[in-house]
Amino acid sequence: MVVLATSSVSIWSSYRKFNDILMQNKIAMQENYVKEVSAITESYVQEKLREPNQDKSIEPYMSQVVDKLLDERVVSFSVLIKSIIVPLLLLLTTVLALAVWLALKITRPLKKLSTSLEKEEIEKLEEINDWYYEAHSLKEVVQNMVICSESKIFDLTDQLNLDSLTGIPNRRRMDQILNELIINKVPHAMVLIDLDDFKSINDTYGHTVGDEVLKAFANHMQENIDKQGMCFRYGGEEFMVILPSATIDVALDLAENLRIKQALLETACGRPVTMSAGITAFTTNIKTSNQIIAIADQALYKAKQSGRNCICVVRGLSEKIIK
Ligand code: GH3
Ligand code: MG
Ligand code: MG
Repeated sequence: MVVLATSSVSIWSSYRKFNDILMQNKIAMQENYVKEVSAITESYVQEKLREPNQDKSIEPYMSQVVDKLLDERVVSFSVLIKSIIVPLLLLLTTVLALAVWLALKITRPLKKLSTSLEKEEIEKLEEINDWYYEAHSLKEVVQNMVICSESKIFDLTDQLNLDSLTGIPNRRRMDQILNELIINKVPHAMVLIDLDDFKSINDTYGHTVGDEVLKAFANHMQENIDKQGMCFRYGGEEFMVILPSATIDVALDLAENLRIKQALLETACGRPVTMSAGITAFTTNIKTSNQIIAIADQALYKAKQSGRNCICVVRGLSEKIIK
């Protein structure tokens, strides 16, 4: 628009200037013409007065006048270039350069905005020079969207790692943490818990009551373990406690304390719900999470076989039942 308007104005002013030149030329030509015609007529009259008898024709004099006139009618090309074409070209080039500079200045923030988003360099959004209103509001909208989607991702990740019934971390989260501990060879103890005869609670009191018992157990377990370890719902009525840097004895103390309290606890179904557990600890020959879980599962199986409401501890090759 700016280029179009400036070009139109400059072409119009050049046209006006060209008209002025033509007009000035016409006036100068008129003056010249009058002078030339007067001079030639004067010389013809003088000639005639000097030699009155000679039959002199006026035609050669007149053709001299016409020649002169034709010469002066042509507007000089250099004048045209100097006064019109060069200024016009200069102006158009300047306007064009200004328009290109302005266009680049306008598009630069938008380009940076899209590059930052493309490369996920969100922290660079703040550095973008949003010098005009539209770029400023676009940047604001993008920043708000980024913040909003980051918090949504955070919430979703949280939900992804939490068990929907009990609200404690789920097996997915447990796998992540356990894998990290094993890969980094961090010593840790593990307690695999299973509620005893849980099927009968569902069968006797209904699934909803069963759910309440599971939720209450998850809370009770978390309260007891507190900051000493991490509690997970492993699946169904099975739970896992991971105790980083804890010895097997510390794990046993915590599990035994939990077992005794659980057996005495009032529950949603009105009768005690006991637990059995299998305990083991990480050793350097364990390479995968499945290996250590299998050992704990085997210990849990032994606890169930030993009459339930008890704990089986596996230390290397030895097993011990605690009731
Ligand atoms: P054991 O002492 O040998 O562990 O016996 P159990 O009855 O506890 O074990 P079993 O594997 O026979 O039954 C587990 C029951 O747990 C069956 C299943 O319906 C119930 N269960 C699993 N997940 C849930 C749940 O989210 N809510 C409820 N209410 N029940 C569940
Ligand atoms: Mg079970
Ligand atoms: Mg069970």
